Amino acid sequence: MCYICFPSEKNSFTPTMFIENTKNPGWIEVICGSMFSGKTEELIRRLRRAQFANLRVEIFKPAIDTRYSEEEVVSHQGNSILSTPVDSSSSIIMLAGNVDVVGIDEAQFFDEGIVDVVQKLASAGIRVIVAGLDMDFRGKPFGPMPALMAVAEYVTKVHAICVRCGDPANFSHRLISSEKLVELGEKQTYEPLCRHCYEKAMAESNKA
Ligand code: ZN
Repeated sequence: MCYICFPSEKNSFTPTMFIENTKNPGWIEVICGSMFSGKTEELIRRLRRAQFANLRVEIFKPAIDTRYSEEEVVSHQGNSILSTPVDSSSSIIMLAGNVDVVGIDEAQFFDEGIVDVVQKLASAGIRVIVAGLDMDFRGKPFGPMPALMAVAEYVTKVHAICVRCGDPANFSHRLISSEKLVELGEKQTYEPLCRHCYEKAMAESNKA
């Protein structure tokens, strides 16, 4: 990334692009970060590359995430790729027959069984790419994500840009007062913040 051409990107991290260099098939990749960090775009990029290479790709997402489409994994950029909504992690094993690559989006919403599922798939020679929020709106590790990151061969943490100061952001600050853990993300509901702006925002809302 050239900061003269893209001055607004000056403060964002540009992680080294992920390139597969494994001889034996079967491993786990996790792409994690806050809202608006480009997790789903990165998942779609990796899956598209695999599709172009004529690999058999299957994509799953939790049935809970019906924001835009029943059948597509859609990023905030409007990129999309066809996927299968599933009610529980165990359905993935049943549906992922005869594939080379499995993509899983919004993995934070899956049950803990997802950890065993991705391990089984990887051990069976399948490349598994998992994307999800690493923290919930309270700044706590989200669902099965910590365990998925632990067992993965490769973890890529992507960052949004803090809307208050421009630093790399890894917190998803909720703009509406709801204690529900699952409020699906839209721009009106969340803003990406860095640690310092997030702490300030939380202190302000505790005072209010
Ligand atoms: Zn900030």
